[in-house]
Amino acid sequence: MRKSRLWLMVCWLIGLSSARVGRTYEINLLPTFSFEEFYLAPLRVHLLQSQDVADLHCRLTEKDVLRILGKVNKIWAQAGIQFCLESLVIEEAVHQEEYKALNGSVPLEFHLRLRPEASKAEGMFHVYYLHNMSVNGVYLQADGIFVKDSARLREVEGGMDEPLPRVTAHELGHALGLSHRQDRVNLMASGTTGFSLNDMEIERARAKAKSLKWIRSVADVAQMANENFLMKNVREAKKLYEWLVAIPGESAVKELAKRRLEMLRKQGA
Ligand SMILES: [Zn+2]
Repeated sequence: MRKSRLWLMVCWLIGLSSARVGRTYEINLLPTFSFEEFYLAPLRVHLLQSQDVADLHCRLTEKDVLRILGKVNKIWAQAGIQFCLESLVIEEAVHQEEYKALNGSVPLEFHLRLRPEASKAEGMFHVYYLHNMSVNGVYLQADGIFVKDSARLREVEGGMDEPLPRVTAHELGHALGLSHRQDRVNLMASGTTGFSLNDMEIERARAKAKSLKWIRSVADVAQMANENFLMKNVREAKKLYEWLVAIPGESAVKELAKRRLEMLRKQGA
């Protein structure tokens, strides 16, 4: 009896504190990095599907992915880094029989075996969404980041308004060389909605981004986009210009990208 009363009290307090925290979601970040200073990291998003294993069947839609990625990039703008959607793949998970044979005790590394061969590729990060696993998300390797669409987080003041952008941004933080830092409002704290980065983390993540040759500077992407535009590789040019116009800040490069994107869209590309 006493126990259940205590529990009710705890629930009431949690309710009270989350009511106070509210669902406000606003990122008022100072524009620390100019448009030209941004790094662009290609990202392939995979929505794993399953005909008969509920935990493997991701419930997200393309619209969800675009919303999530937009918020991931608001978080990572703090470090002048943007994750650019290389492609979105909706695909049946493989080795499902092996997964079922594990009877619910699935080692985290096993999730790598769920990845279909055809959509693996070098030169980009890969995030796989599924429905359920023992943790919210896990970074195993650059091409093996897993996030469950049923992720839950502890709300903190000024935190993200939904779990998935925060979990995804956190795992990408590990991919950029960051370790855990247990301070409630941090991106690299475990299990909270916080998303702030400190100067050291920003420096470390940017150094890692710079060291990976497939993460590009704005100048490189602009050059690639212009070359593709002139060669009439319309699809590639459009994708690269879309990446550029999504970067915060103003610049002549961005204006040109906007104009050419408009031109390509008018041509029905
Ligand atoms: Zn972590």
